[in-house]
Amino acid sequence: MVNKAGKRFVNELNTRKIVSSAITGLNEDGAYLVFDSGVRAHFAAVEFYDHIGLVKEGSTLADLAKEIDVDPENLAATVDEWNKAVENHKDKEFGRTTGMDRELNLGPYYAIHIHPAIHYTMGGIHINTETQVLDTNGNVIKGLYAAGEVSGGLHGNNRIGGNSVAETVIFGRQAGIQMAKYAREHK
Ligand SMILES: Cc1cc2nc3c(=O)[nH]c(=O)nc-3n(C[C@H](O)[C@H](O)[C@H](O)COP(=O)(O)OP(=O)(O)OC[C@H]3O[C@@H](n4cnc5c(N)ncnc54)[C@H](O)[C@@H]3O)c2cc1C
Repeated sequence: MVNKAGKRFVNELNTRKIVSSAITGLNEDGAYLVFDSGVRAHFAAVEFYDHIGLVKEGSTLADLAKEIDVDPENLAATVDEWNKAVENHKDKEFGRTTGMDRELNLGPYYAIHIHPAIHYTMGGIHINTETQVLDTNGNVIKGLYAAGEVSGGLHGNNRIGGNSVAETVIFGRQAGIQMAKYAREHK
């Protein structure tokens, strides 16, 4: 992942929160994912992104740099440095330790412009383990239940990908059980 100057600026596989903040902090309206034909051959999702017109292409790195308006010399140096990091299993710049099994040296080269977007909210209604909604003093509001993304605080400081499925399924089921119980007791 590179900025307009053609340089890496974060461990790309750090948490979403850190990577998103790093991209936003560039103040460059996003960043670019750069990859080669070797990566493309192993990542089927690229075909979809290409289909919807998001993939830029260059037969060489210099062509790609021109296409996406990124500094060509820096981009070449960044890819060179990355390939060394892969070879030595050591990312001196950002300490990345995973997803480092493929050098970028097989043209054509590609780039996708990326930008953080809201796809999950961490905050929300305070609930207990029985999905009862709590008021600002932490007291149960009788007969009111919540589950899923509308509730907050479940994930702590950083949400791990996939966890909202657990949140909706597990707590959704729990809310159903508790609401049925409440309805039976109050009919
Ligand atoms: C692009 C994208 C990718 C995602 N990928 C992942 C992923 O890979 N893994 C993962 O775990 N999570 C992912 N998420 C997050 C996950 O999809 C959501 O957290 C989850 O779907 C929330 O489910 P929910 O039932 O709580 O809320 P929602 O699915 O938002 O359901 C709320 C429902 O309430 C309805 N509603 C709203 N207001 C009213 C009203 N006044 N009256 C009646 N109905 C109303 C809405 O129409 C909606 O149907 C992704 C989200 C996005 C946007």
